Amino acid sequence: MDIEQFRKAGYAAIDRICDYYASLQARPVIAQVQPGYLRKLIPDAAPEKGEDFTVVQDDYQKFIVPGLTSWQHPSFFAYFPTACTFEGILGDLYASSVCHPGFNWSCSPASTELEAITMDWGAKLLGLSPAFYNTSGVGGGVIMTTASDSALTVIVAARSRYTRLFPEVKAEQLILYVTTQTHSLGVKAGLVLGLKVRAIDVKAEDNFALRGEVLRKALEEDTEKGLKPFVFVATVGTTSSGAIDRLEEIGPVVQDYPGLWLHVDAAWAGVALSCPEYREIAKLASINEYATSFCTNFHKWGLVNFDMSTLWVRDRKLLTDALDVTPEFLRTKHGDAGTVVDYRNWHLGLGRRFRSLKFWFVLRGFGVKGFQNYIRRCIKLNDLFVSLLKSSPNFAIVTPPSFALTVFRLEPTQSSDINPSASQLNDLNRIFWSRVSARHDIYLTQTDLNGVFCIRLAVGAERTTEAHIRQAFELLSTEAEGALKVWQE
Ligand code: PLP
Repeated sequence: MDIEQFRKAGYAAIDRICDYYASLQARPVIAQVQPGYLRKLIPDAAPEKGEDFTVVQDDYQKFIVPGLTSWQHPSFFAYFPTACTFEGILGDLYASSVCHPGFNWSCSPASTELEAITMDWGAKLLGLSPAFYNTSGVGGGVIMTTASDSALTVIVAARSRYTRLFPEVKAEQLILYVTTQTHSLGVKAGLVLGLKVRAIDVKAEDNFALRGEVLRKALEEDTEKGLKPFVFVATVGTTSSGAIDRLEEIGPVVQDYPGLWLHVDAAWAGVALSCPEYREIAKLASINEYATSFCTNFHKWGLVNFDMSTLWVRDRKLLTDALDVTPEFLRTKHGDAGTVVDYRNWHLGLGRRFRSLKFWFVLRGFGVKGFQNYIRRCIKLNDLFVSLLKSSPNFAIVTPPSFALTVFRLEPTQSSDINPSASQLNDLNRIFWSRVSARHDIYLTQTDLNGVFCIRLAVGAERTTEAHIRQAFELLSTEAEGALKVWQE
């Protein structure tokens, strides 16, 4: 393809993208295809000769688009939505057009420098302590692929710091802590690194948040057994229910254990810190006081298209001491002089995408006010959903709504004198869930909270409005009535 052909194909691509967004509302949220559908449509080997790109783009429309689940659909309430904006899309377009794996500053100075600047913008947007700013020269922020990637990286650094502090400690003594509500990223990091992992039980009466004393007890038990606690992954906004670990209690406990790293995973909820009124509930003061590292994903609820996980550390040297491996072929004049940041030394991979561009575009396009308005709008829409649930005698809210997430289920006990057992209620909710998940015009996901089967609704798609929330409630009410009928038969 030459430049003029690219110009033409590029305009056509933008037109198609616009048409896709314009027709989003009318599309199914969930792809209506069966497993293996694409193999039947696409040849089993690449063509011998290059094809006309118009045909290739037509095939995208014909074969790929029907197999897309529309995460940007206004009735997408599953998992945690990944809000995506045109500003972000354009950032990615420019970034891929200049394609460079910016592992060293000299690979493309603009890439490293924009990342350092926008990560400071992000830190200020969220109210993080200046200790986390890149301009501090000590702490700093780096863009990662995912929160799992961020957690794995800091766990590697935490292990490295611990074994430098206590060289006599054996690998099998090291233990990593998560809770039973932490995202699977903790257990996975343990698997990858061959570490002992303890998932501390959190209780329904604590709203599935970890209390300081519960952590202390676990640390004491394990220390008595000769184990060495070196990292704890706390969560602000757990995946299942949006629980917020009690960092104000956890922080002082962690400080009693030299070398114990506190990583705060706020993959979803962290961006709510952009609004001053949510900072107390999201534990900003404790993050600023106690966290060794903090991660949030702007690619979830932060308007930047995937991938855009942001990681801040209080001391960048903790990353570089663990991860700086510099053979001759990676050395540069500025790197040797220590006058630049070479981000390859802050994470596991070498090459990295130019992600700061989309971050910059989004933050400039929305501004702090626009960003805050979007977060507030999502929370307000969730509040509306909660009030609708409360108006119905059939629904119960399982855990306190968290920001833009509600966990609920059917509990007809509120409307009649029947008194079903816990397992009968779970059966009812599985029937309800099978009906809801069979629909293609709305997408929610389910979870299990200590044996209680429930449904989650997370608001976050940029185009969701009050009408979509009301429509969601209507659909859920219809399916609830159907489920209750089947269950009572
Ligand atoms: N942490 C929390 C609290 C999450 O909810 C999720 C995903 O939903 C993750 C981590 C994983 O995020 P990623 O896909 O960026 O690894």
